[in-house]
Amino acid sequence: MTIRRLPETVINRIAAGEVVERPASVIKELVENSIDAEAARIDVTIRDGGRTFMSVTDDGRGMTADELSLAIERHATSKLPSDDLLTINSLGFRGEALPSIGAVARLAITSRALGEEDAWIITVEGGTVGAPEPAAHAQGTRIEVRDLFFATPARLKFLKTEKTEQTHAVDTIKRLAMAHPGIGFTLGDGNRDLLKLPAATGPDARLDRLSGVMGKDFRDNSLAIDAQREDMRLTGFAGLPTLNRGNSMMQFLFVNGRPVRNKLLYGALKGAYREFLASDRYPLVALFLDLAPDAVDVNVHPAKTEVRFRDAGLVRGLIVGAVKHTLAEAGHRASTTVSETALGAARPEGLGGGYGGGTYRGGGGPTYGGGATGLRERADAFHSPLPGLDAQPSAPAPADLGEDIADYPLGVARAQVHETYVVAQTRDGIVIVDQHAAHERLVQERIKTALDTGGVQRQGMLIPEVVELDEAAASRLVARAAELAELGLVIEAFGDGAVVVREIPALLGETDIKGLIQDLADDFAEFDEGLALTQRLGDVCATMACHGSVRAGRRLNGDEMNALLREMEATPHSGQCSHGRPTYVELKLADIEKLFGRR
Ligand code: ADP
Ligand code: MG
Repeated sequence: MTIRRLPETVINRIAAGEVVERPASVIKELVENSIDAEAARIDVTIRDGGRTFMSVTDDGRGMTADELSLAIERHATSKLPSDDLLTINSLGFRGEALPSIGAVARLAITSRALGEEDAWIITVEGGTVGAPEPAAHAQGTRIEVRDLFFATPARLKFLKTEKTEQTHAVDTIKRLAMAHPGIGFTLGDGNRDLLKLPAATGPDARLDRLSGVMGKDFRDNSLAIDAQREDMRLTGFAGLPTLNRGNSMMQFLFVNGRPVRNKLLYGALKGAYREFLASDRYPLVALFLDLAPDAVDVNVHPAKTEVRFRDAGLVRGLIVGAVKHTLAEAGHRASTTVSETALGAARPEGLGGGYGGGTYRGGGGPTYGGGATGLRERADAFHSPLPGLDAQPSAPAPADLGEDIADYPLGVARAQVHETYVVAQTRDGIVIVDQHAAHERLVQERIKTALDTGGVQRQGMLIPEVVELDEAAASRLVARAAELAELGLVIEAFGDGAVVVREIPALLGETDIKGLIQDLADDFAEFDEGLALTQRLGDVCATMACHGSVRAGRRLNGDEMNALLREMEATPHSGQCSHGRPTYVELKLADIEKLFGRR
């Protein structure tokens, strides 16, 4: 056996295996270098998903000829001046990226340093380093990477389709751009622009940049977060629950300015939105956590996208607490996307789309043009009144409303339609309330208040009700009997595989007991056994409320309707039901007028 030192090229290829996984990792390293070089503008090109060609051009500090030679040496970095790994302030620090890329691709770096007259170019092809040569270039650096993995063909096989690789690269740039609103970014594929984010300045710079990436709706439907705990600070924006998606792609966390992926974020957001959103819907959130560099380890993985917190519990608590608090303060606000979608659906050509699979699109809200006259013409086609508009005469006459309307955000009830929707008149528009969804939310909030103020009132059943379940479900319920009793629900085991219900929370009123018990059993199957019910209170309340609420289909009189509106106004979170669906939609007169071509 002979032990030998590996040649530099082999070492670099091994390192490349960790740092350079795919085109997006090259883009990440190069763009981070440009950010570290204090660039004001970064232009990126990717061809064929990055496989044949990538370039990153910046107007940053640049490098001299000597620095160029050093930059492509392994573990050569300008970013660890004090050799202290615990206090890292730049994005790079390992000094591995450039030599690794040079080991597996054809790399060319052209650069002109600040204050220098001449630019230089240096090339590395599959690990073979050339000498710096004079070149022509403006101040800053341009790095070109061709034929990625030509030197390690086995790696090529692991690349996905061009489209997939491109998507990863775009995602990488977006994340870095979100953390650096002051830098202008462009990305093209050689033929067209894929991304154009002008430098954002001023007090709203961050939100400008975030909505540039996350969509225009995010600007109008997000709440600013700002919270501090010990020496950690959390800022950023959390979307209203009604603005949600089917996956967590739009949930971002930045730690000390660095985009990271951390499971803790997804869990914490689930916790914070639990009471407002169905478990398969995901809010849009971008959070920025700043903490002492020694409270977080960014050196977990060479690509630095993973972090480890010294006190993960504290971080989680800060995120859950801050987001919950901010959502609570937003009160009954529902997102504008909901009314935009409603208006979109009402538009004659069906512009803007409807509620697609629970996703509130409405984004980009097409400006209202030719369609307006279309509606008027079309209206002539209706000779008879629309069916189903059986407005209840029980609502108060408009004359009595006067001042009231101005005072109440949700207005004064004017009618109930289809025994399901309450229509109210506000100062400058109308509000349509889904009475069932609203009730569900109100009951849930009442249970919580009752718990906080001395317990939930119970109501005994005249005839106790027996509910058959499977054995496992029954024993899960019985195991929680004491906790359920605190919430006002008294159950006991009834043989194997059944429970008997003796008392229910008084405020539920008429209740579908069988459905309630079955759903609770389902809930418990998903809960962590070690978790107290109060920690899942939102879920339990939501389930109870859902079976006890006034369902759609009950007639309400004017007083009942107005009472509902007033209670909604006074109740936090009443803008959405516990599944993240809106409880009401507001349409402004101005928008309605547009709909009829009056504006
Ligand atoms: P690291 O970023 O970890 O220091 P890299 O291999 O990515 O390691 O880069 C090595 C060095 O090259 C950096 O420390 C920096 O001094 C220099 N460098 C790389 N890219 C640029 C750039 N775009 N502008 C100016 N200097 C750069
Ligand atoms: Mg670097």
